[in-house]
Amino acid sequence: MSHFNTGLMMNRFEEFTTRIVQQVGKKEGPVSPVMVNSASFGYGNSETGEGIFEGSIKKPLYARVGNPTSAQLEQVLASMDGGIGAVSASTGMGAIAMATLSLLKSGDEIISIGGLFGGTYSYFSETLTRFGITTKFFDVDELAGIEEAINTATKIIFLESVGNPNMRLPDIAKISSIANRFGVALMVDNTTTPLSIAPLSLGADIVVYSTTKIITGNASALGGAVVYRAITEGSDKFKEDRYRDIHPFIQKMGSMALIAVAKKRALRDFGMSANGFGSYLTMLGLETLPLRLDRIVTTVESVAKALYEKGFVVNHPCLPHHPHHERYLSQFANGCGTILTIDMGSKERAFEFLNRSKLITITANIGDSRTLGLHMASTIYRDFDDQIKEFLGITAGLIRISIGLESAEAIIDDFVDAVKI
Ligand SMILES: *Cc1c(COP(=O)(O)O)cnc(C)c1O
Repeated sequence: MSHFNTGLMMNRFEEFTTRIVQQVGKKEGPVSPVMVNSASFGYGNSETGEGIFEGSIKKPLYARVGNPTSAQLEQVLASMDGGIGAVSASTGMGAIAMATLSLLKSGDEIISIGGLFGGTYSYFSETLTRFGITTKFFDVDELAGIEEAINTATKIIFLESVGNPNMRLPDIAKISSIANRFGVALMVDNTTTPLSIAPLSLGADIVVYSTTKIITGNASALGGAVVYRAITEGSDKFKEDRYRDIHPFIQKMGSMALIAVAKKRALRDFGMSANGFGSYLTMLGLETLPLRLDRIVTTVESVAKALYEKGFVVNHPCLPHHPHHERYLSQFANGCGTILTIDMGSKERAFEFLNRSKLITITANIGDSRTLGLHMASTIYRDFDDQIKEFLGITAGLIRISIGLESAEAIIDDFVDAVKI
C-alpha cells in the first residue's frame, strides 16, 4: 500500500471489493451468475415478438444483439465506471471496433494519443485507412499539436490510459478538457487500469476494455466491453452537428442513445458479440479484480524499485527518473496496472533472460494471475518499421513484463537469478 491515501477515505479497490461481489452473486436462487448459451429466444406469441423488435418489451431478441449473462456483466462494468450502460464484445479488438465503427464514416478522422497496443495501431493505420478513415498519432504530451489537428472531420480522440509498452502516462483530465472544448468524443482504452482510473469521471465519454486481460485475469476467456456515459438532457457534444448521424438515436433513445448506436450499428451489423460462457467466466474473474489489482500494483512498484537498484534498466513511472513520475504520484494514486518493462540491451540478452527465468510465462498476454513476459521487437512489433518502433518505444532488447500474484520477493529473486552468468 505504498502510496495510497492513508486517510479515512476508502481507496477505489476497497470500495469495489464490496460492490462487485455483491453485484455478481444473487441472494436468491443460483448464487453464481446464470449462464445462458442459447443463440435464440422464443417469444411465445407474435405480439410479444413485435414488442421486442419495437423495443417496448425488454426481453432477449437474438444472441447477436444481446445475451442475458452478458447483460449482467454489462451492468457490473457500467457501474464500475459510472456509465449509463455497457455493451460487451467478443474481444477487446471487437470492443474497439464497435466503439469506433458505430460513430465513424469514410472521410472522418481519429486523433490517437499515447500507447499504443499493436492491434489498435494496425487497426487505425492499416484497416481503417482502407475505408477512408485517417488517424493522426500523438505522444501524450503533444497537447498543442493535438489541438491543431482537430478539425470538422475529427470524430474521436482515442487515448490509452497507460502507454503499452512505453509506460508514458497521459494527463487524462487535461486531454478531456481539450476534447470538451472542441466538442469531440473522448474514448479511453482502460484495459490496463480498470478501477485504478475512472475515465468517465475525468471527462471521457466512452471507455473500452479488453476484459481478456486483468478483468478476467487468468486467460480463461476472450472478451471486451464498451462503457458509455448518458447523453445529457440540455446541451451535449453529441447533439452538435459533428455527430448528426446519430441524432435520430438521440431523439428516440435519449440518455441511452450511445448504447443503441453500438447495438444497431456494430453488434447487429458486424456481430462482434460476446457469448454467455465467456461472460460467465469474465464475471468470475471480475469479482476478485479489486483484490488482485490492489496486490499487483503494489508488487509492481516493489519489483520495479528493487530491479532498478540492482542495475536493471527498468521503465515504470514509480521510479523517480521517469518523465511522468510526478503525474504518477498525483493522478495515478491507485497505480497504473500490471506492466513494467526491462531493456536488456539486445535481443540475445533478452531471449537469454526470458529462457532462464523459471517463473515467467512467455506469452503475448498481459494481466494474468501469473507473471508473463515477452520480447517486443521479435513478436508483436516484428512487422513495424523502425520509425514506428521508435515512436512506440520498442528497442532491440525490450521485454514487457506483466506482474502476477506471486510474491514480490519470488519475482525479484527469479529475475536476478536469470541474469546471472
Ligand atoms: C489486449 C489489448 C487489446 C485487445 O484485446 P483482445 O481481447 O486481445 O482483442 C486492446 N487494448 C489493449 C490496451 C490491450 O492490452
